[in-house]
Amino acid sequence: MDAYDPKTIEAKWQAWWEAHGTFRAEGRRPRDKKFYCLTMFPYPSGTLHVGHGRNYIIGDVVTRYKMMRGAEVLSPMGWDAFGLPAENAAIKNQKLPATWVRENVARMKDQFRRWGVGYDWRREVNTSSPDYYKWTQWIFLVLHERGLAYRKHAPVNWCPSCRTGLANEEVVDGRCERCGAEATLKDLPQWFFRITEYAERLLEDLSLLEKWPETVRTMQANWIGRSEGARVEFRLEDGTPLPIFTTRPDTLWGVTFMSLAPEHPLIAKLVAGSEREREVLAFCERVRRQPAAARSDAAVEKEGVPTGACCINPVSGERVPLWVANYALMEYGTGAVMAVPAHDQRDFEFAKKYGLPIRVVIQPQGKSLRADEIQEAYVEAGVMADSGDLSGTPTPSGIPEVMAHLEKQGWGARTVHYRIRDWLISRQRYWGAPIPIVHCAKCGEVPVPVEKLPVELPPETAVEFPPRGESPLAKVSAWVNTKCPACGGAANRETDTLAQWLCSCWYFLRYTMTDEERRASGNAKPFDRAAVDYWMPVDQYIGGVEHAVLHLLYTRFICKVLCDAGHVGFREPFQALFTQGMICKQSPRTGKLEKMSKSKGNVVSPDAVIEAYGADTQRLYTLFVGPPQKDAEWQDDAVVGARRFLDRVWRLADEHGATVAGAEPYAGNGADLAPEAKAVWRKTHQTIRKVTDDIEHSWQFNTAIAAVMELVNAMGAAGEAIAEAPAVARLALEAMVRLLHPFVPHLTEELWQAFGHEPSILAAGWPLFDESACAEDVLEIPIQVNGKLRARITVPADASEEAVRTAALGSERVKEVLAGAQVRKVIVIPGRLVNIVAK
Ligand SMILES: [Zn+2]
Ligand SMILES: [Zn+2]
Repeated sequence: MDAYDPKTIEAKWQAWWEAHGTFRAEGRRPRDKKFYCLTMFPYPSGTLHVGHGRNYIIGDVVTRYKMMRGAEVLSPMGWDAFGLPAENAAIKNQKLPATWVRENVARMKDQFRRWGVGYDWRREVNTSSPDYYKWTQWIFLVLHERGLAYRKHAPVNWCPSCRTGLANEEVVDGRCERCGAEATLKDLPQWFFRITEYAERLLEDLSLLEKWPETVRTMQANWIGRSEGARVEFRLEDGTPLPIFTTRPDTLWGVTFMSLAPEHPLIAKLVAGSEREREVLAFCERVRRQPAAARSDAAVEKEGVPTGACCINPVSGERVPLWVANYALMEYGTGAVMAVPAHDQRDFEFAKKYGLPIRVVIQPQGKSLRADEIQEAYVEAGVMADSGDLSGTPTPSGIPEVMAHLEKQGWGARTVHYRIRDWLISRQRYWGAPIPIVHCAKCGEVPVPVEKLPVELPPETAVEFPPRGESPLAKVSAWVNTKCPACGGAANRETDTLAQWLCSCWYFLRYTMTDEERRASGNAKPFDRAAVDYWMPVDQYIGGVEHAVLHLLYTRFICKVLCDAGHVGFREPFQALFTQGMICKQSPRTGKLEKMSKSKGNVVSPDAVIEAYGADTQRLYTLFVGPPQKDAEWQDDAVVGARRFLDRVWRLADEHGATVAGAEPYAGNGADLAPEAKAVWRKTHQTIRKVTDDIEHSWQFNTAIAAVMELVNAMGAAGEAIAEAPAVARLALEAMVRLLHPFVPHLTEELWQAFGHEPSILAAGWPLFDESACAEDVLEIPIQVNGKLRARITVPADASEEAVRTAALGSERVKEVLAGAQVRKVIVIPGRLVNIVAK
């Protein structure tokens, strides 16, 4: 054979797989054989770097491994093309979004091909194509029909840079998830999805997701944020209800003031015409411009203003002054928070700052705290004090008693509160699916009938799409003006578009049809129910943990709605989830190890690596660099090590090519083998066991690769001996090539063919190991004490001298014979005898 030449080999096998439809999933085998391997599809907002490559390569390893294990694997790919990521990048690059997306899709598709990742491209989806977004709009209608989509004028998160409303989930640490600008609040009419109605089920069904990382499940549970507590009916002095939610009704007697969120609708009324009006409204205005996340941070400096008004505490009948405070949030509870400075640290800080009273109503067991002495809020368990009839009740264990009391007195009721808010779905941007609603003066909001979908975007050339804060579609009057689907009168189209998060809530359902099937159906359905029933749920989903409370939560919600509406038959879309770690590299700008990204200047292009070493080398390096769930550092000068190993594999196959040509893989029990050949035979079985185990149970691709490296070393060490046992050589070489296939598919296809097999190696199946062949030989060794045979021990044939010595001295029989005598010397004749000299 010639020297290893990845360029030729890789192009050859990529063409071969394509020509032979190797990754076409037909779905004709029994359902228990199916395996849906889904890797999160990318935003086509630029080209891919080697860091991006990690999850696609991991997905490909799983796909190929499962195929070799005999599964019917569906591995599709597509483009999350609508929305802010692509549109922002297009604007930055001064291109029209559609053009920008088209160019990137072509480039990225080529990158996938050159990595050798296998997809069934007949199922490709692009969320920005009308035949796809027709059905994204349909999903909106499904929710609308079920009362789960509504429009409301509300203060919403606003990104001043992207100039659009954002969902709560898109505001990360107070900043726009997309561009990093600080989010503010803005009053706008916006569309919401009632995800809160599914809060309980989204939480409960987390228990079905045993194969999800614990971290993701916890993040979702925290985001949903269920807490049990009481709704307590405070009232203004004029009788207007001012209900609050509290998880600590046992502290109700300690309330000394009330904090209102600056957004609270009652504030304007409370201060109207009063001397405090101007100051209070100015304070509200100022705080409302601050990011909500910063306000809810425990460390934030507490500030507030008194409104001058009071409310009545139902349990004590006391007048409680009403304040507006920056740390009170409209999203939590009712926007009015009872303040108990003695037992809540934030209230304590606020009370100290403004000289408000502090009253201790929970006393530690056997102690007596004084309000003027405490240095911080007492939040531990204790006994209720100064709390009317309930004084003496232990707490918090006694909270149910307190609740029952409140209910009996008509002061409040038990209730469950969720942190999650409804999902803001509308965007004031061009690049998204138009919301399929028509506003009619006579009929109100009228959904566009399904047969009129898609509501297509006007062409980009007709639109000034860079964002100005209102939907650019509003300016295209020819598009906006339409007829009401209900009464036929003049009406206007809704001009907001749908967030791209909705596009990605169902793409894996669309994959279950091929392009031909979609066309043949006249695009008359979003997906084929039988195909969905066959392929869903996804057996393995692979993607980044940053989607934990965005895509992964939204998708679970939408699938539950589709299930309730009878469109799908499963409750949870993703059976198993794997979240890969990031590839990091030292940034020349900051000098620090950072996630690979353009803005850090530490991006490595796969093109350069493939050009220098080949795609298989890049794949091997990416997989070998560390456990896939952990972050790993990319080091340019270490890549060559992966290439050297592949050169070695190539040479090994080349050296033994002639020897093994006529041989069948060794299938005996090892008894007939010379020691060196036997060692290779055993190592082969052990390696198969180790690699299988590493992939199957923990996805430890790095240690799996290390195990194959050991096998290669063992074959090298056997030298000429292995050439004299061609059957063993063949067994070892074929196992090596098959075990390496998921990691380095091109090289291994080439060698498999060189061994005289028909391609593809995928059809050859995964090698099997024999447990008894893995077991090391054992030897029985006689032990002499002072020259007399006294005992026998059994040790592994390859046990070290030290191990044999320890085993001999540890033998019960030997201890008995020695009976406390001093051991002077232990002579070990490896594999033969141990002699102990004692006195
Ligand atoms: Zn932004
Ligand atoms: Zn109408």
